[in-house]
Parts: sequence; structure tokens; C-alpha cells
Amino acid sequence: MTEQGVRVDGGSVAVALDYDAIVIGAGVAGIYQIKRLVDLGFRATVLEAGGDLGGTWYWNRYPGCRFDSESYTYGYSWSQELLDEWHWKERFSSQPENYRYLSYVADKFDLRRHMQFEAVVTAAHYDDDHGLWTVTLEDGRTITTRFLITALGLLSAATPPRYPGVDTFQGQSWHTYYWPHEPVELAGKRVGVVGTGATAVQLIPVVAEQAEQLTVFQRRPNWAAPLHNGPIGDAEMAEIRSRYDEIFERCSRTPGGFEHEPDRRGFTNFSPEERRAYWEELYAMPGFGIWLGNFRETFMDEEANAELSAFIADKIRDRVDDPELAEKLIPKDHGFGVQRVPLETNYFETYNRDNVRLVDLSETPIECITESGIRTTAEHVELDIIVYATGFDAMTGAYDRIDIRGVGGHRLADKWADGPSTFFGLMIHGFPNLVMLAGPQSGSASSNFPRGIEKGVDWVTDFLTYLNEHGHTRFQPTEDAEEAWSSHMREMYSMMLMRNAKSWFTGYNSNVDGHEHGKTRYFVYNGGGPRYWRKLDEVTGDDYGGIDIA
Ligand code: NAP
Repeated sequence: MTEQGVRVDGGSVAVALDYDAIVIGAGVAGIYQIKRLVDLGFRATVLEAGGDLGGTWYWNRYPGCRFDSESYTYGYSWSQELLDEWHWKERFSSQPENYRYLSYVADKFDLRRHMQFEAVVTAAHYDDDHGLWTVTLEDGRTITTRFLITALGLLSAATPPRYPGVDTFQGQSWHTYYWPHEPVELAGKRVGVVGTGATAVQLIPVVAEQAEQLTVFQRRPNWAAPLHNGPIGDAEMAEIRSRYDEIFERCSRTPGGFEHEPDRRGFTNFSPEERRAYWEELYAMPGFGIWLGNFRETFMDEEANAELSAFIADKIRDRVDDPELAEKLIPKDHGFGVQRVPLETNYFETYNRDNVRLVDLSETPIECITESGIRTTAEHVELDIIVYATGFDAMTGAYDRIDIRGVGGHRLADKWADGPSTFFGLMIHGFPNLVMLAGPQSGSASSNFPRGIEKGVDWVTDFLTYLNEHGHTRFQPTEDAEEAWSSHMREMYSMMLMRNAKSWFTGYNSNVDGHEHGKTRYFVYNGGGPRYWRKLDEVTGDDYGGIDIA
């Protein structure tokens, strides 16, 4: 590792190298990455835009925000002490507790001193003469580093809608990602929620219990299934602790990194009645069983998917009193599970409440936001608070917001204008010495997040260690290797029904130019964790084949 302030020759002028590695982002990935780097003696720092660490769990403070991963599969696995000490209080732990957990980890391992908060990175330019990155911060500072490691998050670039008048609203309004840190008084308020994705599905039932009046503005309904949350008592936590090895091993075998494994017994080996009985069981189980633990044909075969969708539609009809309203809440344009399935607690029953009303934007679209509410083509809804649960410029949005330039000053935003192109979602041709943790197209990003990123961080750390040990200072994937990965990405999409999804999985976002439906962006690795890591192991075993190292 280089020494502080070492001068790097290469071009006509020597340049001071401030760090061996800079990590951008102090979320779940950044926290573990800095731990590994510091342990190995790298001079490294984390630059975090937020006021504290935690990433997703720092920002998303909306009521109802919680895991849809079983809590004990979400925690870090790399410290036995941590596993022994931490008690997950709920099967699907809530945001405040998750934020507390990550803070606890950072304090326990004294990681905060390696982190800079409110350090907003605006640019990162690669200097090929000196083999380093210059990182520019909003406060005007520039910092140099040999290696740049991005841990920007998949869903960290929030996208409010672009309706006329958004800025004119005189009440309180915000995107769910920016839910205020101070308590919000909902009692006695008329609240509007725009959007019915995973975030809204968690938020709506909790807001409905507190607000005087809740109006949900739904453009398209979303399939959702019950979370079945519950407490984890001392005895159960002790039992979970005794099985941690087994739990993590199981997660490493499943495509999604969850405990739930696709059922390979064969959809057609069961009668429709047997399938229904089976789905009743899955529907009654906590977590993603009904989605990820289901017959694997439901992900790939239209007919199998349609039958499952009909079963879930009936569940919605059972749970919503008003049959006409129930039909509005049942998606008709896509099947169950081809978009990421939100897990809910009393979501559908919430529409039976007297203080909750659905405005169907497919019939009466929003025209504008006014000073006092939302105007649709049919009415003006007076509101005190508007909550935009309108999603994210997923995967690449956080990259687009930084002026990232590689060899020859070429901009990453230009290279990715029609969608990302990467090597294993880890590296990018033309952008040497840049590593992405949970970047677009990586296996880490498409799984139960910490399970994937731990492996990703370990791989990156081993790779950087290898470079150091061999005196290498520059790497980038070859163009051919990147193209091979892109082609594999496309092939994996072609096998899944989600290839047509009108969701962030395919790069759709109506609030971002160029992200229209139909222009598929290959964001998510669909081949499953085990296949991804097997392929990456082959790269490693081949002396990092596909990567130019100098
Ligand atoms: P999302 O799934 O993209 O949903 C956005 C919602 O807003 C959709 O209903 C969308 O309608 C609507 N919308 C967007 N722009 C609109 C506009 N201009 N006018 C009206 N409606 C508009 O976003 P999200 O709910 O934040 O969830 C994103 C992802 O975050 C999830 O897929 C999941 O990966 C993650 N998440 C996870 C959890 C968890 O349990 N751990 C919780 C929340 C979120 P259309 O469908 O018509 O586009």
C-alpha cells in the first residue's frame, strides 16, 4: 500500500495520492468494504452523502418501512461475535431497528472514523497518466485515490413525478426516500399517496391508521402478498443463532439468496386442486415463499403464471369488501411475480376503511398539483400532505448523478445512455481502477442484498490484494469480456417472464427521460446467485481472465 501523500509519477507532473481506495456510499456494502480494507492496511475512506451511515436504512424513514428479507438472513455473517450479540426483534425488522443495527456494527468495529458524512461526490475523473482517480465533492474539495469503489445503492436516486405544479403545493410534501427525520404529525390530516409500489404498499396501511383521510392515487395496481411479520423471542433467537451456519449456507444455494428455494418438483406433476392447496400454504407462510419458493415454472411459463395470478386475484377479492374496488386493485397487465412482489400487512384490508379512498389514475389521470392538493381530470382532492411513493431511477440513476469520466475523458453517462454495459456488474471497460459493489448487472444486486454483497466485497478485496501483492496499479475489463457478459445478461432475461415487466427491473421509469417501457435495460442479473458466483470463480481461477491488468 502507498504511504500518505505519496507522489505518483507517470505524466509530466507528479500528483499526490491521498488514498489507496475511496468507497462512495456508507450503506450495507460500503460498511463491510471499509472494514475489509482497513483490516488489510489500505489507506481508505468512505464518502457518504447522507448525515450518517446506513444507506437505504438511513434515508427511507417512511412509516411501515421494513425488511422483506427474514431479518436473520439480512445481517452480516462475517463476525461470530456480532451474530452472537445481535437479537433481531422481529422476523422482518423495521427501518429504525435496521439503522440501529448498522450503527451498532460501525461502532463495534470503530468504522465511523473512516467515514466522511455529508460528503457529496459530484465528479470522479480518471487520470490515465498517473493511474488515479480525482474525486470532487460538492464542498469543493478534490481527493485522489488509486482505486475507486462505488457502493451507491440500487435504489438511491429518488424520482418524484414531473406533474405541473409540484413546487406550488403549500402543504407538506416529499418523496418517501426523503421522509423527514423529525416526527410527522399525520393525525387530523388529509394525506395523499401517489404510487402503489412496494414502498406504498408498506406505507399505506400505517398512514391510514393515523391520518384523518387517506387518498391513494393509483396508476397501476401491483401484486402483493402477505408478509406475516411477528416477534422473535429470546428462545427463538437462540435457536436461530444455533443455526446461522445452516441458514447462510442455504441462502448461498438459492438463486435469490433467501431461505426460499424455487420448487423444482414440476408444475404439471400436480393437479390444479393440489396446486391451489399448495399455494394456500405458501400464502400463509411468512416472507417470499409464495413468490420465490413457488414452482419455478411460474417465473417462465405464461400458463403457470396465469394460474398462480388467478389464485392471488381471488385472495384480493376475498380481502376487499367492495367487489368493484377489488377489481381495481388486481393487476390485469402483468402476472404475479414478474415485477418484484411487495410484501404487505393489511394492505388490501386498508381499502375497507371509511377514511381511505382509491383514485384510479388509469380512468382519471392527474392533471397537476395545485397549491392545496391534486387535480385529476375528474376532481380536485384537497390535501394537507402529499407523499410521492413514485420509485427510483434504479441501478444507474445514482451513477448518472455523478460526472464519472474514464479514459480520454469519456463520460460513463454517455456509455450507459441506452443501458449499462459491464463486466459482471463489477467493472467497466474504459474506466480503469473502478469497482462497483452491487452495481447494475451484478449478482450482488439481484439477491437478498447482504448475502450477495458480502461475497462481492470479499471478491473485490481479494482482487485488490492480488493487485497489490503483484505490484499492479491498473486494471480494466477487456471490451470482449464486457460484451460476453452483456450477451449473457440478455440471454438470462430472455428466459424469464419479467423481461416484459413495466418496472425498474427492465429500466422503466416514467419520470426519467429515455426510460420508457419497451427500451429494455439489462439491470438485474437473472441467472441466480449460485450461477453468478460459479462464473466469477472461473474468472478468478483463470488468473482474472477477461481483465487487463498492468
Ligand atoms: P416502484 O416499485 O417503482 O413503484 C412506484 C410506484 O409509483 C408505482 O406504483 C408507479 O406506478 C407509481 N408512479 C411512478 N410515477 C408516477 C407518476 N408520475 N404518477 C403516478 N404514479 C406514479 O417504487 P417503490 O415502491 O419505491 O419500490 C422500488 C423498489 O424498492 C422495490 O421494487 C423493492 O426492490 C424496493 N423496496 C423494498 C422494500 C422492502 O420491503 N424491503 C420496500 C420498499 C421498496 P406504475 O406502476 O404505473 O409505474
